[in-house]
Amino acid sequence: MVEIPDTDPVANKIYDYSQAKRGEPYGSIGISLSMLGSDCNRAPFYAFRWATPPKQFDGKMCRLFETGEIHEERLLEGLAGAGATVITHDPDTGRQMRVRGVGGHARGLLDGVAHNVPGIDDQWVVVECKSHNQKSWDALIKKGLKEHKPEHFIQCQSYMHLTGYKKCLYLAVNKNTDAVMSIVIDYDQGFCEHLFNRVESIVYTDDAPSRVSDDPDFWSCRFCDYKNICKGGEFVQTRSCRTCIHVTPLAHKDYGSWQCEKHSKPLNRDEQLAGCEGHLFNPCFVPGEQIDADPDAGTITYALDNGETFIDGPPEAVGEDEKAGRDITDNPENRGGDNA
Ligand code: SF4
Ligand code: SF4
Repeated sequence: MVEIPDTDPVANKIYDYSQAKRGEPYGSIGISLSMLGSDCNRAPFYAFRWATPPKQFDGKMCRLFETGEIHEERLLEGLAGAGATVITHDPDTGRQMRVRGVGGHARGLLDGVAHNVPGIDDQWVVVECKSHNQKSWDALIKKGLKEHKPEHFIQCQSYMHLTGYKKCLYLAVNKNTDAVMSIVIDYDQGFCEHLFNRVESIVYTDDAPSRVSDDPDFWSCRFCDYKNICKGGEFVQTRSCRTCIHVTPLAHKDYGSWQCEKHSKPLNRDEQLAGCEGHLFNPCFVPGEQIDADPDAGTITYALDNGETFIDGPPEAVGEDEKAGRDITDNPENRGGDNA
């Protein structure tokens, strides 16, 4: 394949446009159900606790997301054209349909729901659309959805669990040939009960769950966004309420809520992003061992794995330099939305 030089001015402007159109990166408010395909519980815990700033995707990647959305729209349009009744947005809000579970902390966005789907008897079904390149398409045919794309299978099952629908129509499109494949998945209650017990264990814990593997080259760790924190001894990069020792996630019927135990008050999203000067790291985010604590001064002292000593506490106790001396990027402005 001929490489396109990345000095191409027109292409670069197009990438910039796609990146700008997608807007500022944002972290999920809760645990995205699409994150649970891996066996690792620690990675979704880090995401839930905002252990890193939201990921900034480059323009090429943003265009790939756009392509996926275009394919999704065409699949849903085609499904309606095939005679099904298709609903993609909540009629009350006009927004994409959302599902919530585990006290509102587990979240997902439905591509749609449909009725009168050819070959499926008289019932509403969840619809999930995905595009695949040729290699993935071939593997989907060979291995089946659950084995080839467990994260997609989990999305389908969890959406059925949270909507009460008993079937999911998984629509796949081959990006190389435009061929379409439909897979009908039946609701598996036992699978979902196990899955949601797992999510509860991630939401309502103050300790980082066990690693899926201690091997740095374990296959699911190689591309993990949290590898440097989990295995590289890197400090977490955010100082929001989510990384604070004083915060507790609480259940709510519609949305997950968070409580500050120090100030005895619920925290809205902006307050969580901002944190306060009383912030103290949850020890599970500090790469070292706690060796002292001074309740009067509000400080905790750690022996870091790199041999240094770190005193965590309010600025008046540890000094502004100490606060600023942590290698932490605290950029709440980057967290602008809710992707689920
Ligand atoms: S590096 Fe591996 S063990 Fe650690 S959070 Fe990521 S997937 Fe889990
Ligand atoms: S002490 Fe401050 S940073 Fe910690 S949870 Fe309360 S408001 Fe958030």
